[in-house]
Amino acid sequence: MRAIRRFTVRTVLPAELADLDDLAHNLRWSWHAPTRDLFASVDEALWAEVAGDPVALLGALGPERLAALAQDEAFVGRVHAAAADLRRYLTAPRWYQEQDKADLPASIAYFSPEYGITSVLPQYSGGLGILAGDHLKSASDLGVPIVGVGLLYGSGYFKQSLTRDGWQLETYPVLDPDGLPLTLVREEDGSPARVSIDLPGGRTLNANIWSAAVGRIPLLLLDSNIPDNDELARKVTDRLYGGGGEYRLQQELLLGVGGVRALRIWSRLTGAPAPEVFHMNEGHAGFLGVERIRELVTERGLDFDAAREAVRASTVFTTHTPVPAGIDRFEARLVAQYFGGDNAVDGIPVERVLELGAEDYEGGDPLLFNMAVMGLRLGGRANGVSLLHGDVSRDMFNGLWQGFDSAEVPIGSITNGVHSPTWVDRKLADLAASRLTPEEIATGSGWLRPDGVSDAELWEVRHELRAQLVADARARVGSSWHQRGASPAELGWLDDVLSPDVLTIGFARRVPTYKRLTLMLRDTDRLRALLTDPERPVQLIVAGKSHPADDQGKRLIQQLVRFADEPDVRHRIVFLPNYDIGMAQTLLPGCDVWLNNPLRPLEASGTSGMKSALNGGLNLSVLDGWWDEWFDGENGWAIPTADGVDDAERRDDLEAAALYDLIEHQVAARFYDRDERGLPVHWLEMVRHTLATLGPKVQATRMVADYVRHLYVPAAVAGRDLDEDDFAGARELARWKERVRAGWSHVRVDHVESGGVSDVPQVGDELHVKAYISLGDLTPQDVEVQVLHGRVTENDELTTFSVAALDVAETFELGRYSFAGVVRLEASGPFGYTVRIVPRHRGLTSVADVGLVANAAG
Ligand SMILES: *Cc1c(COP(=O)(O)O)cnc(C)c1O
Repeated sequence: MRAIRRFTVRTVLPAELADLDDLAHNLRWSWHAPTRDLFASVDEALWAEVAGDPVALLGALGPERLAALAQDEAFVGRVHAAAADLRRYLTAPRWYQEQDKADLPASIAYFSPEYGITSVLPQYSGGLGILAGDHLKSASDLGVPIVGVGLLYGSGYFKQSLTRDGWQLETYPVLDPDGLPLTLVREEDGSPARVSIDLPGGRTLNANIWSAAVGRIPLLLLDSNIPDNDELARKVTDRLYGGGGEYRLQQELLLGVGGVRALRIWSRLTGAPAPEVFHMNEGHAGFLGVERIRELVTERGLDFDAAREAVRASTVFTTHTPVPAGIDRFEARLVAQYFGGDNAVDGIPVERVLELGAEDYEGGDPLLFNMAVMGLRLGGRANGVSLLHGDVSRDMFNGLWQGFDSAEVPIGSITNGVHSPTWVDRKLADLAASRLTPEEIATGSGWLRPDGVSDAELWEVRHELRAQLVADARARVGSSWHQRGASPAELGWLDDVLSPDVLTIGFARRVPTYKRLTLMLRDTDRLRALLTDPERPVQLIVAGKSHPADDQGKRLIQQLVRFADEPDVRHRIVFLPNYDIGMAQTLLPGCDVWLNNPLRPLEASGTSGMKSALNGGLNLSVLDGWWDEWFDGENGWAIPTADGVDDAERRDDLEAAALYDLIEHQVAARFYDRDERGLPVHWLEMVRHTLATLGPKVQATRMVADYVRHLYVPAAVAGRDLDEDDFAGARELARWKERVRAGWSHVRVDHVESGGVSDVPQVGDELHVKAYISLGDLTPQDVEVQVLHGRVTENDELTTFSVAALDVAETFELGRYSFAGVVRLEASGPFGYTVRIVPRHRGLTSVADVGLVANAAG
């Protein structure tokens, strides 16, 4: 075979059309319909052929066509207007610029292993990546100065197709970065800017940096496929989630360590301010913390502990899954090779690095290095992605904070959101814009105004969305069958696949086991009856990719495909191969009902149901993730779960039966309940209620604003506090923690006395508490002595409690003190209290920060 060297020759645009290049290279077009219209107007047929990819469209235009366009004054005028509009979007003050400036970070670095922005840039596998894409887009809309950091995978994730027998096939088309909406970052002399990382055995991993413009947000993507690398190093960024072990470790080193280095280069070349806050979107990027520690040790002269404090204060960690398989764990031995031996850095002992990810708690594996654990240890602030997931995460990681109840584990929550300009179908957006004020759309209230959008109009647009989906799904089923080797003669039935008038239920997501793709197949007779009901039929559209190494997932897909292939149901249930953003943008708006039936509580948030809701779809879901928080009885249906039933088979049977019942008696019944005009009035009430009440909540702008207020600003403030005066605060905090740790074994509550309440205690009484304590060498200023008080359970446990601090009352010799204070009894019922001592310092991010506590005994 000949070695073909390939590259893409860029079109040289005539000067009049130069702005088109900027418009194509700023991904704002992916959520800005007028810009897409401009590109489409160049050549509608070509636009369809290149599947809506502006860079590909420009690349396909010959010089003559371009010359003609440059002569077309009207067209040139539209190009200039679109470019002016983009410039306004990029420079005008937005929400962030209206906030109180003093505490706002000048820049925030956001690290994620994947980004789902548009189908044109296939650098995502599922929800995590699309969330990251929506985060950047919404940050852009709000004017939040984020810089994204990630990897550029040569083949992205993979393309899914099916064998005749319904087995998933994967292909890995090679992407050419020059043909993507990316720009190579170059040094002033024109050479590619280069990130390098030393590997064991004297090897080096080099990477180029590509930048994508996501509206106002630069996204830096590292690409190791360059000639300077050896063959193995070139492959480090070949695929997303393409393997485990050392390959994955090298990817994560490049992301974390290389990513920080890329940011420094970016600042040097563009003058962009250095990030004040670093956000790890899941544990994969955790090594960024180690690299920042290295910078502070080798360049600023801090020791490891002081550097670690400075890094922690300004790092935010978001955990995205309670599923163990979703968390990266490496052999500690392997990590040691990359941070020890020849590769060790002075001042960064390898044992200290290994401690960061050590599972040194009950149930942990001492041989493994856990990236989520490192994220929690290096992230001074951490969060889950829904209220329920916050709860589940506090339980799951409680072992890292021994001596504290799970309620005090310092992991909060910010519920995910989705970027509405990306996910609301244009037909619905246009209808809303034509009838409602921007204010009414933003607050959702417009949907409740009877003279806004009428029932007939709302139903009409829902029908159009469904019809658009049916047409798209037919085409996809057709090409899938073609690809599976069927001849046209066998496929006459394709014209009748799905109907634009039938109640349409969608289910599309990745296929890990916990998402239970095949729950709907538990009782195939029952499902068949629902699909083929002569009066109130249901149709199901299903999609999703299984990880290439997950044969169990592929078997689930095969089961589903085989059922969908059966002649008596194939017009009512389809599996669409290769679920991606492009498909989702038609599928989600077109479904009347969005189904989700994970094994509770393993779905951290889920976001596809939010996209459905934004289009007036009704959710039918297990009360997990975001739905547990926002289901209100009127915006869809909750599938009852058999929580606590340990037998997995029985649990699935019970939950599936509940699902069939709901579909038959509630969902279909309501959908087909029509008035004299043929309108499902009750259904439409639910649609309006969904648009009005969920619409504002599920926005990613709400989510990003929450991150700014609750995490980025506090992290920036804490970071500055420790950085000032050559990191005086960081050094002092590290020394203080060292002293407190060393002395803690002598800290104890010796004796507690109380008085003040009447013989029959009543609300309003004041309980006087006095605690005699020993502090050894520590001082009263080093600690807080607390009374935890509240209602006790039957087992004398305080599960929810308030905290009151006591004050020093007396000083005795040998490090002994008494502390005293008053607790008012606020509520009737069984009351209990206890005393504990915790470390106190203004630099601590939570009561559990140091992980030390001395509880009163017995
Ligand atoms: C939204 C989306 C997801 C995530 O869906 P979940 O409900 O969070 O599982 C995955 N893939 C695509 C293409 C999406 O658009």
